[in-house]
Amino acid sequence: MMALYENGARRKLMVSVPVHCPYCHSSEIIKAGKQANGTQRYQCQNGRCARRIFLLQYRDRGRVPEVRRQVVNMAINGSGIRDTARVLRISPTTVIAVLKKSRRAATRQPPIATSSSFTHHSRPGGMRRRAR
Ligand SMILES: [Zn+2]
Repeated sequence: MMALYENGARRKLMVSVPVHCPYCHSSEIIKAGKQANGTQRYQCQNGRCARRIFLLQYRDRGRVPEVRRQVVNMAINGSGIRDTARVLRISPTTVIAVLKKSRRAATRQPPIATSSSFTHHSRPGGMRRRAR
């Protein structure tokens, strides 16, 4: 009659409350230490998940995966940075940061040196192809 908690109780750090990865929605989650501010951190055990460490409650709306997705969606639909910031209740600076990161993640390119790409054409003749 005491064999109630068989599954889960043996794997040491397995969380029993239903925690799901916000990226792949897997429920194979373990605790992964704490943030500097004491917030519990979790780790996704799904090997194919793009993101491994996440928090359940982000203090900062600009860190919430859903908000970040919306930032990218709004940009695709032509919303300006200020519009996006107002609607999602994050700062324009955060909007820019999210967009920069998402573009880098999508194209897997190193950060672009801010001054060179617009002010002067460094390669005459060679790379005339437009990026899209
Ligand atoms: Zn995951």
